[in-house]
Amino acid sequence: MRDLLPGEIELWQHVEGLARELFGRFGYGEVRTPMAEDTGLFVRSVGEETDIVGKEMYTFDDKGGRSLSLRPEGTAPAARAYIEHAINNKEPITRWFYMGPMFRYERMKTGRYRQFYQIGAEAYGSKEAAQDAEMMDMVVQFLGALELKDVTLNLNSLGDEACRPAYHAKLVEYLQAHREELCEDCKRRMETNPLRVLDCKNPTCQAVAAAGPNVLEFLCEPCRAHFDDLQRKLTVLGIKYVVNPRMVRGLDYYTRTVFEFIASHPALGTASTVGGGGRYDKMMKGLGGPDVPAVGFAMGLDRLVLLLKESGRTFTSPPDLFVAVADEGSQDAALALASRLRREGLRVDFDTRGGSLKSQMKRADKSGARFTLVLGEAERTSGQAKLKPMAGGDAIPVALDDVAKTLRAARLATAQAGPT
Ligand code: ATP
Ligand code: MG
Repeated sequence: MRDLLPGEIELWQHVEGLARELFGRFGYGEVRTPMAEDTGLFVRSVGEETDIVGKEMYTFDDKGGRSLSLRPEGTAPAARAYIEHAINNKEPITRWFYMGPMFRYERMKTGRYRQFYQIGAEAYGSKEAAQDAEMMDMVVQFLGALELKDVTLNLNSLGDEACRPAYHAKLVEYLQAHREELCEDCKRRMETNPLRVLDCKNPTCQAVAAAGPNVLEFLCEPCRAHFDDLQRKLTVLGIKYVVNPRMVRGLDYYTRTVFEFIASHPALGTASTVGGGGRYDKMMKGLGGPDVPAVGFAMGLDRLVLLLKESGRTFTSPPDLFVAVADEGSQDAALALASRLRREGLRVDFDTRGGSLKSQMKRADKSGARFTLVLGEAERTSGQAKLKPMAGGDAIPVALDDVAKTLRAARLATAQAGPT
């Protein structure tokens, strides 16, 4: 778990801000659920045999003797809230997004943390492929807005309760034949939850899985039609994808569509999946809620920020002005000037320690402020001062009453001239 400090946080705010704005355009409203939930919620939805529930949860008993877990993902808490507030009685289709920390006890490395952040969305109430396509379109537009390139959409269908049993049976039969090549975990998973073997990170298990039966060959007619429909719609939307029949994702609740967005950037190492999701038409009912189909995804904010950092773009906004004080007697006037300019919408830096003009000018330089204004007795008496451009060039004479106006005009001129 780590601290995020100014200097880096602007990247996070940029990503979060884009998500809020863009998801809003698609009609998604934000939900905030508690950091901790009843442990049973995750066991019953994410699945007991998944790495997340089996190995990675921060689980503890509270003082009332209840078992709680820090949320390892956002889909189950959102579903719990949807059920608890009987949202299905209020509207037929619901679009929610969330962002915030998730907790998994994993081995720390680049792009993998114990407290990490997700931005995710859930659409409840439509079982149609159009909903899946719309959601992927939203992710594609989001990655586009972030100017992240080289991200591939991987697509698969896991079938439903009608066709998955046949695939399961075939998979188990195949895995039995390769039992000795599997890791100890997978030997167990084979009995309890064979799909999980396909998600094992062990290279030998992956090799076994790769040569196993292809889930797409087992899809029943309605699942096949849904998958075909989805691909057609992605093509209509101009979204490129690859079909990957080995992709199952690390959670148990998926039916039919699953997808992942994978970045090919060396900065991420093996943590190259920036986001993923899928359809979970049976989960609500399984949690004791209404029979409502749903589809959702979650993006790893940490990994998006890593990629953005690699792009070298910066999102910090330096102060518009540094107010320096020429003499002891002008200290209060400078404090008041800074206050007024901030009220007028400007970013103003001011050294509250006072000190020599020379040391203040050093601070001004360091602050990255575009202009410095020195306030002394002369300026106070005349009501006139000078805006000194820190990048060099001639000082601009300005009436103390017009500082905000002049600086705003300068800001505008820079914005129109484009980035330097
Ligand atoms: P992985 O295969 O990388 O472990 P996952 O399948 O466990 O990912 P999901 O549960 O689908 O991941 O979570 C969605 C996204 O959240 C991931 O694609 C990833 O970007 C991010 N994510 C998951 N776990 C972590 C973590 N420990 N640290 C940082 N980001 C994470
Ligand atoms: Mg994982």
